Amino acid sequence: MSVISKLYEGKAKILYQTDVPEILLADFKDDATAFNAQKKGSISNKGIINCSISSKLFQKLEQKGINTHYLDNPSSNQMRVKAVKIIPLEVVVRNIAAGSLCKQTGLELGTILKQPLVEFYYKNDELGDPLLTKDRLLLLELASEEQVEEIIHLALRINEFLQDFFGKCDITLVDFKLEFGLDSEQNILLADEISPDTCRLWDNSTNDPQKRVLDKDRFRRDLGNVENAYQEVLQRVLKTVEANASS
Ligand code: UDP
Repeated sequence: MSVISKLYEGKAKILYQTDVPEILLADFKDDATAFNAQKKGSISNKGIINCSISSKLFQKLEQKGINTHYLDNPSSNQMRVKAVKIIPLEVVVRNIAAGSLCKQTGLELGTILKQPLVEFYYKNDELGDPLLTKDRLLLLELASEEQVEEIIHLALRINEFLQDFFGKCDITLVDFKLEFGLDSEQNILLADEISPDTCRLWDNSTNDPQKRVLDKDRFRRDLGNVENAYQEVLQRVLKTVEANASS
């Protein structure tokens, strides 16, 4: 397989077209952005770390019967993926109140939700990724009613797996963002990435509200030690994958 041309450069990844039309190459960058790219920076080794974590999680999800775009890793910060048409939705799943949920509802940070909350945001930088109701999503024809139901079902199954997996890593999964895409046969595949850039992850070994943060909030809120936190997540993920493989 060889790379033909750059298809798209996003905030955290570059997507390349390859000589195989159904296969794209995702190159994970060290660049970091927050607040709709108003804050910009870089996190050393983030590309390798996020690519490694996402790859392990996608492989595990495939084993659980969840279809993802993951194929393999030609290098440590690159992922070969199935070409999909991205559905322009950010699907956020929350177990604990944080971030915009606290800001918009007044819920206190750390409130445990009685059941997971699935939310849709419109993936549109110009509009600032607004929160959508299901009716608005259907109005904009971003997905069909059946697709919305399937996406909610998949998001909840992925949440169950991730909560259990990160629990084994001694990490609490607060919330996370997923993106889905459609392959040429209109199957819905999990796409994008699952990493400390897209999840809120709290270290169970401390209750300190700053020390426990192992995700992009360290960058967003200038808490320092961002790379260490990302590395810590990777090491725990690798250890858990290894422990489960041999049991
Ligand atoms: N998230 C993301 N990309 C976005 C927006 C949110 O990956 O463009 C993730 C974020 O890291 C968190 C979850 O989605 O794990 C919920 O984010 P929230 O709506 O609270 O927004 P934020 O406070 O991050 O602006």
